[in-house]
Amino acid sequence: RKLVGKLTTGCEEFDEMMGGGIESQSITEMYGEFGCGKTQVAHQLAVNVQLPPEQGGLGGSVVIIDTENTFRPERITQMVNGLSEKHGVEYDPEEFLKNIHVARAYNSNHQILLVDSASELANELKDSEMPVRLLIVDSLTAHFRAEYIGRGTLADRQQKLNKHLHGIQRFGDLFNSCVVVTNQVMSKPDAFFGDPTKPIGGHILGHTATFRLYIRKSKGDKRIVKLVDSPNLPDGEAIMSITTDGLGD
Ligand code: ADP
Ligand code: MG
Repeated sequence: RKLVGKLTTGCEEFDEMMGGGIESQSITEMYGEFGCGKTQVAHQLAVNVQLPPEQGGLGGSVVIIDTENTFRPERITQMVNGLSEKHGVEYDPEEFLKNIHVARAYNSNHQILLVDSASELANELKDSEMPVRLLIVDSLTAHFRAEYIGRGTLADRQQKLNKHLHGIQRFGDLFNSCVVVTNQVMSKPDAFFGDPTKPIGGHILGHTATFRLYIRKSKGDKRIVKLVDSPNLPDGEAIMSITTDGLGD
């Protein structure tokens, strides 16, 4: 087992709650309602992973499996410019964008296949200057939720999601990579989908994801991130902000 890496979120409280940052070789699940900031955190991590370890990064590149078409290069540019200001250095957003490998997933089968493509890429980059150190699946569950409707197919959905999760866990182990997945929950129960106020994947995802983070809106640009059921860290809450410059205290 390789030494576990820790990736900074850009928010001190958040990092502290995580025992230093997002861990490699583990799956970190972020769940919460639409608009709570899951995709924003994902963008920020895609920037931060490229920083050297002295600055809280892992000196690596990132693969994003984008299932909802919410990746925005312009947002990366804003965050890199935010970092330039914070560090007093002139970072080039284009250099950061080069190390963000985005793949659109059109359905759940395609999403699962893209983990194999990600592994091939990570193998190619293994001995390069920018090995893949972060895999993001945003959203992990949207296609599964849309394709498997009704009670009869819930077991099938769970089995397939489970297989997918094992695939991404293997990726994390093999490449000493962080794995961050998002999972939308809804505020009100909806009979059609079962109980969407609970993250889908429920039980099995609960056992696979090593770190589960519940994100919710607070005042203005503030968000509350709650660490739920960690195996080795106390449950806790952190307040972060999401501004034009990205994630902060
Ligand atoms: P989700 O959890 O659904 O993925 P998002 O990560 O897309 O949610 O969060 C959307 C929210 O992020 C917006 O409502 C806004 O508060 C914030 N946001 C998005 N872009 C910016 C930006 N450029 N500057 C400041 N805040 C932003
Ligand atoms: Mg999103």
